[in-house]
Amino acid sequence: MKAIRKIERKHGGIRVDNIEPPTPKEDEVLVEIKNASICGSDIHAYHFPPTHHFIQPPVTMGHECSGQVVEVGKNVTDYIPGDRVVIEPIVNCGKCESCLKGNYYICNNFNIRGMHRDGIFTERVAVNPKSLHKIPDTLSFEKACLVEPTSVLTHAILDRSDIKAGDLVLVTGPGPIGLLAAQMVKVVGAEPIVVGVDSDEDVRLPLAREFGFQTINTSVQTIPEALNEKHGRETVHAVVECSGAPPIFQTTLEVVVKGGSITLVGLFANPVEANLSNAVRKELSIYTSFSQDWVNFERAIKLLDEGVIQTEKMVAYYQPEDAVDAFEDAIAKKVPKPVFSF
Ligand SMILES: [Zn+2]
Ligand SMILES: [Zn+2]
Repeated sequence: MKAIRKIERKHGGIRVDNIEPPTPKEDEVLVEIKNASICGSDIHAYHFPPTHHFIQPPVTMGHECSGQVVEVGKNVTDYIPGDRVVIEPIVNCGKCESCLKGNYYICNNFNIRGMHRDGIFTERVAVNPKSLHKIPDTLSFEKACLVEPTSVLTHAILDRSDIKAGDLVLVTGPGPIGLLAAQMVKVVGAEPIVVGVDSDEDVRLPLAREFGFQTINTSVQTIPEALNEKHGRETVHAVVECSGAPPIFQTTLEVVVKGGSITLVGLFANPVEANLSNAVRKELSIYTSFSQDWVNFERAIKLLDEGVIQTEKMVAYYQPEDAVDAFEDAIAKKVPKPVFSF
């Protein structure tokens, strides 16, 4: 069966291989992958910066997917062939302090699909049903593969921020996570303002405007200027940082109101320099948000199924054979979210 694999420890270095289909163990379920999307972390794996040298090729890439159960091991009781599912990206140990505290998504020994272990950019995967969520018939496989990235934002906005209805919220970085973040900010009744740069003006910022969000292009206008023009103030109540661009952190410290909050979602490629005395004097709450838990997944399924979170305009479909094009289009910011059909 086909699998998109990282095969070399360098930029690119991916190939569509033919691999042996897995056989599910007694306590596993065999899932046929329907759709799978490229995550920002897959793009890191593709680029292969030093932060991702822990990846040991050959490894099947990917963790965002939807699929259907086709076979169950003899000890599995909760799933039957035909069940429509999504798969959680992180496999945890169940024994460490984080797991025992219930924070299994930050397990001390975690293992991310498509990174530390084989992922889901393939036709069939054998998984423990603990990693599965059933999805309703009304939620298409095409939409359901975006449950995972959506759940990153149910976690960030609902669990890891102080954002309240009526707040003005800056979402820095108009990539797929930023566009989902802005929608989630709207879900809680706050007003998102999406921030990008010139290179986002081709696709991403226009898309944010299509969603009805105010945008700021910091290549042409400063954030306080733009805020003043539209809102008569130079600060926001909260920031959701989704760009991972190190210089933006100092900017967010300056534009968030005293007593406000910043939620860091993007992973920074390099160390960040910032004047943290600013943050202390303003008594800012700085949250980080990583991954998601079971509840975040369930909420994301519900929000996508009800059409509260929209994904259609963000995606473009690719065959697995065109994986390099899919990655390059995402890197060139031509397509917010490439989706493979397996
Ligand atoms: Zn993801
Ligand atoms: Zn653990």
